[in-house]
Parts: sequence; C-alpha cells; structure tokens
Amino acid sequence: MDRKEEILRLVEEGFNTAKELSRYFNVSLMTIYRDLKELEEEGRIVRKHGFIELKKEEEPQGKVCAVCGKEVELRLAFIYILKGGKKVHTCCAHCGLIAYRTIGKEKVEMVMARDFITCNPINAFMGSFVVGSSVAPCCTPPAFVFANPEDAQKFAKGFGGIVTDFEEAVKRMEELMRSGQRADISL
Ligand SMILES: [Zn+2]
Ligand SMILES: [Zn+2]
Repeated sequence: MDRKEEILRLVEEGFNTAKELSRYFNVSLMTIYRDLKELEEEGRIVRKHGFIELKKEEEPQGKVCAVCGKEVELRLAFIYILKGGKKVHTCCAHCGLIAYRTIGKEKVEMVMARDFITCNPINAFMGSFVVGSSVAPCCTPPAFVFANPEDAQKFAKGFGGIVTDFEEAVKRMEELMRSGQRADISL
C-alpha cells in the first residue's frame, strides 16, 4: 500500500493531523504536507482548521471489538487494516494480540494503535509491548503498547509485566490465555 492510501486509512480512524501522520510514518512534516496536498487535489480529503477529513460520509461511530464485543475507544484501540482494505477493530492491545493469529499474518497490511502514554499514533508492529501488568484499563490479562522502549521499561517497573516486541507479545498473550477464551472473528 502506498503512503497516500495508508494516510486515508489513518484519517478514517481519527489520526487526523499532519503531526500525527508524520510521527506515524516517521517522515518530515513537509513530506506529509506534500501527500496531503496531492490528496486534496485529488478530492479525497479536506483540511479544516488543521484537521484532515475524508471527503465522503463518515463511517458510523461506535465500533465494537471483534474479539470481546466491547465498544472501541480510539485511545486504546488496536486496529488491523487487512490487504484489500477490510478492517478489524479491537478494543485494546490485549484483544489486538489475541486477534493476530486468527486474522493471519499474511492478511495484515498494517496495524494502528496509540502510545499508551502520549496517545500518539504508532505502527503497532514497531511498538514496545508490556504484557501481563497488574493494572488493566480494558481487558485482562492486559497489554500495553509504547513507541519508546524506555517508556515500556519504566511502565513495567512500576506496574509489572514483561517488555517485548509485537511477535513475542502475541506469544506471551497466548500463553497467558491458554486455558481461556479464543478469538472468534468472522473475516
Ligand atoms: Zn476487546
Ligand atoms: Zn480490551
């Protein structure tokens, strides 16, 4: 998927400032502005007071988690974009990690989440995870994702849990859930 297509997907999910997008892609604001200008000229987005909006009817609000059925809040959401454009919304990193095997690596185009501390959008594949802490803002056992490995370390120091990368986090969550529920996602 090229970056402009990815931008459209991100904007659709509420990642709607140039700053957030430049952080997500780890490119300069200039580069994002160039993409946005092209998208605007193609009539696919509009910019209002610094916020980017898609130029079409918005999707209905109130997505529910594909794994547990809870209402999805943007701050904790873990969103898979599949090849072909389909999306799987999950409520938090816990459900996000559980969903991964069911969805299947080969079907996933990108995964969007937000840094637990800063709320900045991140590519979850690149994130640092903390699995199995003693606090759980959404589902248990909890998982958290951070852009910065140091933040993950600090968090784990305070609240427990193991610091790990995406693939390991999926495994850890499976171990923790072994006797528990399984994801039942219809794709
Ligand atoms: Zn869930
Ligand atoms: Zn959850």
